[in-house]
Amino acid sequence: MISVHEILEEYGIRYYTHGENVASGWVGITCPFCSDRTNHMGINLSEHYFSCWKCNTKGKNFLYVISVISGIKFKDLIKKYPEIEKKIKEGFTGGSVPLFNTYTLLHNMAYEYLLSDFRKFTDQEIHKLEKDYKILFILDGSYSNRLFIPLIEDGYEINFLARSVSGDKLRYINASAAQCVKPLSDCIYGIDFIKTIENADILFLQEGIFDSLKINLTYHHSKCYSIPLFKKILPREFSRNSDLMKLSTHFKKVVILLDYGEISASYKLYSDLKDLIPNLTIFFLPENIKDIGSLSGNEVLEFLHNVKKDVLNE
Ligand SMILES: [Zn+2]
Repeated sequence: MISVHEILEEYGIRYYTHGENVASGWVGITCPFCSDRTNHMGINLSEHYFSCWKCNTKGKNFLYVISVISGIKFKDLIKKYPEIEKKIKEGFTGGSVPLFNTYTLLHNMAYEYLLSDFRKFTDQEIHKLEKDYKILFILDGSYSNRLFIPLIEDGYEINFLARSVSGDKLRYINASAAQCVKPLSDCIYGIDFIKTIENADILFLQEGIFDSLKINLTYHHSKCYSIPLFKKILPREFSRNSDLMKLSTHFKKVVILLDYGEISASYKLYSDLKDLIPNLTIFFLPENIKDIGSLSGNEVLEFLHNVKKDVLNE
């Protein structure tokens, strides 16, 4: 099997096998995700995880770091070194993230949460969440009593969120480095679907997964889709991947729609993206709508109608 060292050498990436910041069983390289100067990005030689001790960027397959440094697509690197990906997938089923013991969303706890006044999903929408978005309820382990919300790219589960339905203070738990292919900050939720969209109305950039789900469930009526920016962090793919920039032209407008009162964060995002996305604009939530994620389907459609009137002059 090809070694981590051989692959690093092939791409001319300088690495350290010992010394400052390098643990035994790892090699250290300069982290491409932060202002690291002293090889804080560790690559585990046997398990192939990567983890930066400085900026905390982590993932399951170090080929992802190689792809960022070299500019070669992650997909192509996986094809080139199938043995690396195969080894990582051993013990995993269905994609790249572990298979939990899960149950359908009809599990009492999940079902009550989704139907509650806080979420207002209908039976039909809950069925869609399970069928189209592959959301399930986790029964066991440290993620028990949480919704399993996978992030999927090219048909593979590359990361996931685990959302508590039981009032746990930690509302979301992210996948650990050992359980994901890419760090969350590099994942674009719904990317496979977005790639199939053409001539749509609005692509929203929102904060939370439920904000986005509420809009995405209306897509066939509204021609609007939404990407969650987990914690207002812009996916790095967004500013790096020119294919994705092209996708923004499949929508009449790209609209920044953060939570109520997030004025300066909205302007910051706007200035980060305005040169990359010519059809970008901001919409500020009115005071009477504090949380899209708590609106019913009909309320979302009414809201989208008003946004379109405003930003598309319809
Ligand atoms: Zn770093």
